[in-house]
Amino acid sequence: MSENRLAIHGGPKAKTTPFGTGKRFGLEEAKELMEALEQNTLFYHSGQKVKQFLDDFNRLYGVKYSVATSSGTAAIHVALGAAGVTVGDEVITSPITDQGTLIGILYQNAIPVFADLDPHTYNLDPASVEARITPRTKAIVVVHLAGNPCDMDPIMEIARKHRLKVIEDCAQSYLTRYKGRLAGTIGDYGCFSTNDFKHISTGDGGIVTVNSGEEEDFRVVHAFADKNYQRFSGQVMRDLSYLAPNYRMTELQGAVGIAQLKKLPWICEKRHRYGERITEGIRDLPGIEPHGVTEGGWCSYWFYMFRVNETALGCTRDEFSKTLTAEGIPAHPGYIPEVVYLNPLFQKRQAYLNSHFPFELTEVTYERGLCPTAEHILQTAVRIGISEFFTDEDIDEIIGGIRKVAAYYQKSVAG
Ligand SMILES: *Cc1c(COP(=O)(O)O)cnc(C)c1O
Repeated sequence: MSENRLAIHGGPKAKTTPFGTGKRFGLEEAKELMEALEQNTLFYHSGQKVKQFLDDFNRLYGVKYSVATSSGTAAIHVALGAAGVTVGDEVITSPITDQGTLIGILYQNAIPVFADLDPHTYNLDPASVEARITPRTKAIVVVHLAGNPCDMDPIMEIARKHRLKVIEDCAQSYLTRYKGRLAGTIGDYGCFSTNDFKHISTGDGGIVTVNSGEEEDFRVVHAFADKNYQRFSGQVMRDLSYLAPNYRMTELQGAVGIAQLKKLPWICEKRHRYGERITEGIRDLPGIEPHGVTEGGWCSYWFYMFRVNETALGCTRDEFSKTLTAEGIPAHPGYIPEVVYLNPLFQKRQAYLNSHFPFELTEVTYERGLCPTAEHILQTAVRIGISEFFTDEDIDEIIGGIRKVAAYYQKSVAG
């Protein structure tokens, strides 16, 4: 009996031992970094490290061309720029994402349009995407949230029908698969982040895959990340024909990336196994909905997020999250506080200081209620961090903690 007492009521914590930790970086990275320095240049086009990093990435992903960038945000901007997204174009995307998904859209002076999500997978609902297409729609940026793939077959079909470009935001979705294909190789471009919080880290950094496999497309993407320098036509061409930022990756990032990439399959396998194990451990609980994986999908769980049915459990999501945290299982209410369109940028229609451009070009609006399912997900979800350094015991204690808290609230409802 006393065993079941909640930790917030003075009972024993569900988590009895510290969570497993580990070192992300070691001598493998140090060796690559030393070699980079010994090159006597840290410029990607002169050195070998970024080239090697991309070669390894291309082999792992089975793509012919990719381009390294300074961040995931930059990778998405580069893909949008190369896709020809420009002033007043509409780009459909997800309202539950990092702002890095949106920044490139607005820097191209295009208009973000938000489609609603599936309540179980937290990814774009293809029917909502199609409903938000207008004659001004130019592209879709799908976000494979938390390692879980979007339902790409219907999305690609819609895109083909309306002649839209598809950019995959894979910042949280390394080695994620959809019906046997790797996320990031299905749309026109796949964009990855190697910032310090992702599956692999180069401090900051990013990658864009060029999925047409056409050399000409590769050259456009490459130049868009490099101030429009054309470096492959014998002699370097630096005539500016249109605007392109400097989003280059350095040899130091490339060096670390080479070593990190070797660890990626292990990292993703572990996270996959842990995420699936949590689902197995909580799926029978009334009032708890496990993190839904898209049909035909393989999830590399950047985080694990379940939903709480507040009526069935007789507690609020915030209470559940707080009680679970007290059990020694660090839990967070939702992923981001609100859907991204409720940010001041959209509410004030101010992408640039002292300007309403490009919002003044459009009738698109951003009121609460625009994507009701997405809003409801963020109001009812509890997120738990997953690490590849956790142990099986850690996962079992996470499951035990969720079960204990759910059982307590259930009993209160019943009695
Ligand atoms: C991290 C992230 C980005 C941006 O990546 P940065 O490298 O931080 O610029 C974009 N989209 C999503 C979904 C992300 O999680």
